[in-house]
Amino acid sequence: MGLFNKKNLTVDTTDILPSMTLHDLVCEKLNVFCWCNRCDHNNIIESAQIIERLGGNYPVPEIGRNLRCRKCNNMRDISTRPNWPSYGGQITRHTD
Ligand SMILES: [Zn+2]
Repeated sequence: MGLFNKKNLTVDTTDILPSMTLHDLVCEKLNVFCWCNRCDHNNIIESAQIIERLGGNYPVPEIGRNLRCRKCNNMRDISTRPNWPSYGGQITRHTD
């Protein structure tokens, strides 16, 4: 039972995205990227900061429920995901 068996780690991040927790982010030295779906305001939160509030087992996609947009005060429609370095500056804007 090798929890940290590197052979099982894939580079395809979409596979592990749904199960990422704050603890995983800290281990990977990643911060949390959050995005307000109402006004498109986005921000990066330090994992170490949010883990104090929510705990290490908290799933990353659920973090948005605890956030409030500084720009429009939206608290219900905020997306969160790991701030993968490869996404830096490459975020696709969707306008609908
Ligand atoms: Zn907003």
